[in-house]
Amino acid sequence: MSEWITEEQTPHLRLSAEIDKVLYSGNSEFQKIEVVHSKEYGNMLALDGVFQTSEREEYFYHEIIAHVPLFLHPNPKRVLIIGGGDGGVAKECVRHSCVEEVTMVEIDGKVVELAKQYLPTISRAMKEQHPKLTVTIGDGIAFMAKAENYYDVIIVDCSDPIGPGKGLFTEEFYANTMKALKEDGLFVQQTESPFLHQSLVADVFSYVGRHFPITRLFMSYIPIYPSGMHCFTMGSKTYDPLVWKPNRPLDMDMQYYNYDIQKAVFALPNFVKKYLKI
Ligand code: SAM
Repeated sequence: MSEWITEEQTPHLRLSAEIDKVLYSGNSEFQKIEVVHSKEYGNMLALDGVFQTSEREEYFYHEIIAHVPLFLHPNPKRVLIIGGGDGGVAKECVRHSCVEEVTMVEIDGKVVELAKQYLPTISRAMKEQHPKLTVTIGDGIAFMAKAENYYDVIIVDCSDPIGPGKGLFTEEFYANTMKALKEDGLFVQQTESPFLHQSLVADVFSYVGRHFPITRLFMSYIPIYPSGMHCFTMGSKTYDPLVWKPNRPLDMDMQYYNYDIQKAVFALPNFVKKYLKI
């Protein structure tokens, strides 16, 4: 009999992956953690039953959430990652030669430990203790409340708005994010499916819009996420992705991201524009 791992994506929709091995299954202080080897996607991480990342398709998500904001900013030096315990975003951020320091604040040390053990390619920068990277185990909400005028780019690579991630989707958090950024800083957050989570996407867009002069949504394909269509909300103090032009060469080998993608991800379908009222 074959064995499967299943995410209930909505009460009426499930996604299952056939697995040949459960590598870890247990509870941390914050959530249920599962690491499995799936036949299609290689090693996969699930938190509270929600698929987070997999070895085979991680670049869809990690390249987009990291390089779209980092190439929009003309000279990002200080980067903050909230969440991101699997290490995939940190791995992409340290590649930029202009980036000098990357601070990652992840609430769950067990996710970091398991990612180093079972997702070695994704967690490479953490595992190899990359000199630009500092990993702090703690609450990203409390960390953001204390930060002021320091970061060029902030990337909120959070889980869903349940459990410890709930407070990362509030207006207060976006006000603190604005404060933590330098005068020309910008931030990006993963904000779920633009198709299945329309009211969440619309709420976040309006909260961010109350604090940032430039608020944009961008979209990409993520094979393991609900509907396969995923969106990211951006708040920026100065740089507008809709009038972006490259200011430095793209001298890194990428599997998904390129300069056509940088522009294309900001093209939105009509049903999304309608509920965002733009
Ligand atoms: N790419 C993933 C997705 O969208 O499904 C997110 C991956 S990453 C593993 C999400 C991380 O955010 C988890 O490891 C979780 O522990 C962390 N997290 C949740 N709430 C947090 C908080 N308040 N502060 C810091 N990290 C948090």
